[in-house]
Amino acid sequence: SARIPVDGQIVDMNGDEMTRLIWQLIREKLVFPHVAVEDKLREFDLGLPNRDATDDQVTLDAAAAILECSVGVKCATITPDAGRVKEFGLKKMYRSPNGQIRGFLNGTVFREPIICGNIPRIIPGWKAPIIVGRHAYADQYACQDMLTPPSGGKLTMRFEPADGGAAVERTVFEFGADQPGIALCMYNTDDSIRGFARSSFLYAQSRGMPLYLATKNTILKVYDGRFADIFAEVGQEFPDVQYEMRLIDDMVAQMVKNDGGYVLALKNYDGDVQSDIVAQGYGSLGLMTSVLLHPDGKTFCSEAAHGTVTRHWRKHQAGEATSTNSIASIFAWSRALSHRGKLDGNDALVNFGTALEKATIGTVEGGIMTKDLAICVHGSASAATEDTYVTTEGFIDAVATKLARNLGK
Ligand code: NAD
Repeated sequence: SARIPVDGQIVDMNGDEMTRLIWQLIREKLVFPHVAVEDKLREFDLGLPNRDATDDQVTLDAAAAILECSVGVKCATITPDAGRVKEFGLKKMYRSPNGQIRGFLNGTVFREPIICGNIPRIIPGWKAPIIVGRHAYADQYACQDMLTPPSGGKLTMRFEPADGGAAVERTVFEFGADQPGIALCMYNTDDSIRGFARSSFLYAQSRGMPLYLATKNTILKVYDGRFADIFAEVGQEFPDVQYEMRLIDDMVAQMVKNDGGYVLALKNYDGDVQSDIVAQGYGSLGLMTSVLLHPDGKTFCSEAAHGTVTRHWRKHQAGEATSTNSIASIFAWSRALSHRGKLDGNDALVNFGTALEKATIGTVEGGIMTKDLAICVHGSASAATEDTYVTTEGFIDAVATKLARNLGK
């Protein structure tokens, strides 16, 4: 039967290792048979060899292309360390493509776990996703910190207005002699916080879920208070989103007790820590998707939250069969296609995104899964015997069969 036409373009960013192999399989077996998107893909090879060949220009070109056409889908990529520089004979140690794309697009990343009814979670009460939005700008990640010397001395925070007004200076602490210590000064901007708030409300609105901002504004009355004030202000524009500011200690206590189903907006450091707790709580990393949403609500990039699964790639290179979970990568595609569909008013494409997700979850719930999930079900690697899981390719084939059947093909 006819394939679904696509109007707008999608930036397709290929990547490395196991996920590169999975990327090809998803495109060929799950997407192209049903969606006529080949001509609408703007393809960028962000695999490490091509980043090296282009002096990483390809990453910047891909980011610029996302700004132009609004939708991107990204495969996991290697962030090189010294070992990778040697392994690939790189000209230099390139920066993380994700960091660069995020910096260029200036959006907020939302990490969302995918729930399969039969995959037990470490926190069994989590029946719906907890979607963590992390404000990936400044705070501790762009601060100045230092060791203060044993001589002791006065630590101050000083601000010099650019208009020549009087400087503001506050004493933070007076270190005594023989009292060496540490100090830190950090900042954020109203603009960035407002963008974060807007992306968070838009994401909660699109998922039909409540939004919570968690801060420690009892202690950081001014700093965290500013986050709370700006969120409240932006919230006025979203009367349909149920929103509350929560004290972060109350929020984490509630988190382990309630059953999920909300978007949690967190400051940079809190988001860094909490998103890993949430990922672990839901089980496999292979069940975690990640969406970057710009405050304009249009510009969007989805990907799996995990890396290139190097451990499995080494087995594949040695000619062994692998059982790598492709679900988060499949959802990167389903979310990107759905978003393209929404922007274009293409309901058939939006529905295809939903059908692809249903077929994927349905496959797992029908008992066909990769080894990481079999381990979750059976409790340990030794209990997850070979008959309890399928190969990387086998799983995608099973999803393809189910999808075609569900679509009446
Ligand atoms: P990883 O996410 O690839 O793997 C971490 C652990 O989780 C491993 O034990 C792996 O076996 C398991 N795992 C992850 N995804 C899985 C899946 N889909 N199915 C089954 N098991 C899965 O992270 P890593 O090993 O620390 O890094 C490997 C490479 O990925 C590195 O070069 C790193 O730079 C890169 N990386 C990229 C991204 C990204 O592009 N977003 C994120 C993280 C790491």
